[in-house]
Amino acid sequence: MIDLRSDTVTKPTPQMRQAMVEAKVGDDVFGEDPTVNALEKKIARKFGFEAGLFVPSGTMANQLSINTLTEQGEEVLIEETGHIANYESTAAAHLSSVHLKTLPGQQGKLSAELLTDTVRGSRDWEPQTSVIALENTTNKGGGCCYSEEELSAIRAFSDNHNLAVHLDGARIWNAMTATGTEPKFYSSIADTLSVCFSKGLGAPVGSMVLSSKQQIAEMRRMRKMWGGGMRQVGILAAAADYAVENHYQLLKEDHRRAKELAEVIEQCSGLAIKRDLVETNILIFDVLNMSAPTAVEKLEEQGVRLVPFGPNTLRATFYFHITDEDLQQAKQIFRSLYD
Ligand SMILES: *Cc1c(COP(=O)(O)O)cnc(C)c1O
Repeated sequence: MIDLRSDTVTKPTPQMRQAMVEAKVGDDVFGEDPTVNALEKKIARKFGFEAGLFVPSGTMANQLSINTLTEQGEEVLIEETGHIANYESTAAAHLSSVHLKTLPGQQGKLSAELLTDTVRGSRDWEPQTSVIALENTTNKGGGCCYSEEELSAIRAFSDNHNLAVHLDGARIWNAMTATGTEPKFYSSIADTLSVCFSKGLGAPVGSMVLSSKQQIAEMRRMRKMWGGGMRQVGILAAAADYAVENHYQLLKEDHRRAKELAEVIEQCSGLAIKRDLVETNILIFDVLNMSAPTAVEKLEEQGVRLVPFGPNTLRATFYFHITDEDLQQAKQIFRSLYD
């Protein structure tokens, strides 16, 4: 079975497991796990932030960020397909008592133009807007990337309106691979950045949130309150470190394979795709004359698994377990069903 459902279905390789076995560990709630401490320092430095905090999930990294950047009763601006607004239950409302105001962007992206006139709070019956939450790459937006110009324009807007910026960089690794943006650039446009090790990088668990020393100290306290304080977690940090060192450079192959499949999908008369929007490892496309669940079933019978992403829409995702051989087979299956 060629499993293109998600880049989270990766399994740790034997070498990654070896790195986990050999990890030096300590009690991380006491701040004594050397592998965690080293990873936090290394990733923070890489992206140009003062400090980092290793957390169990991207959701926790995003929610810790929102929690430290807001006060109760405030409002976060976010594109309507954003992960924080769609895939984190109602965490922002529950954990931070804030309101998410969703805006209809393009490919999951906000822009300085779109943000114009959205900031509220001058009257006491209005929510007080305090944060702009961005996603790079965009998940539901199809794996699209922000250019540095787009991000700088949003930062300029946020500075003008005294708003903080959170960047959900679950797939920032894919964004850097596709755009060539230097990691340190992101600390110039975001107050908080969350990154995942468990997507295309292939670690079994783990994300990190990056920010100033003061904000990370605050998040460390909240992480404990939310039940995310972990003990000898260097075992997982070792997997994350292995992933950054050894799997990051494989992402460009995932992007190439995604584009190759997009080419075939474009040629299939029963399918429709905007091929120029396939920038990274995610492909979103429509099935003509068939519902998404039926299409998923038919593809699965032939040996390729995808997820429905709308009534007639499917998503395919590439990651390093999917080989060129798998790709050739997937192309054949698409041609045989939809040509
Ligand atoms: C996967 C993902 C997350 C984090 O998800 P977890 O399952 O909580 O680790 C956050 N943002 C985006 C855009 C994602 O795709």
